[in-house]
Amino acid sequence: MNKPAADGKLEPYDRSPMDEARSLAHRSKAPPAECAGAIAVTRDGSRFPGVAIALSSAAGLSVCAERVAMSSARSATSSPIEEIALWIPKSAGDHPCGICLQIWLELAPKARFLLQRGEGEIQELDLKQLLPDAFTSYDPSSQAETSARAQE
Ligand SMILES: [Zn+2]
Repeated sequence: MNKPAADGKLEPYDRSPMDEARSLAHRSKAPPAECAGAIAVTRDGSRFPGVAIALSSAAGLSVCAERVAMSSARSATSSPIEEIALWIPKSAGDHPCGICLQIWLELAPKARFLLQRGEGEIQELDLKQLLPDAFTSYDPSSQAETSARAQE
């Protein structure tokens, strides 16, 4: 897993999940300023897409691209999510939102989360910094056990 170098920039990494996330953002059902794309990459190399779905008649039911991608990966495979690449337009609000941080914590706590805003630099987000003292009864060591049970 790549970590930021001393100068804060990421070490070389595979850009293709972020490029793929960006390329599918147009499939969002959202205002242009909120069209986002995400890719969840699992340990087995599979990639799961997500786009923003904003419901104009029921905003509370809207879902973020990264949440869709993580949920799709979890639904399709027991292989752990190792990376989440999220591309958002320059004009988008802050991401990930609180719900998506909680989903990240519970579905993929060890995953690297990369965020690119428009043409800006790709940032690696720190879950503990963004969600300190998280509400959880979740024990990450039980994830493999849960996945194993699902395959029985
Ligand atoms: Zn969200």
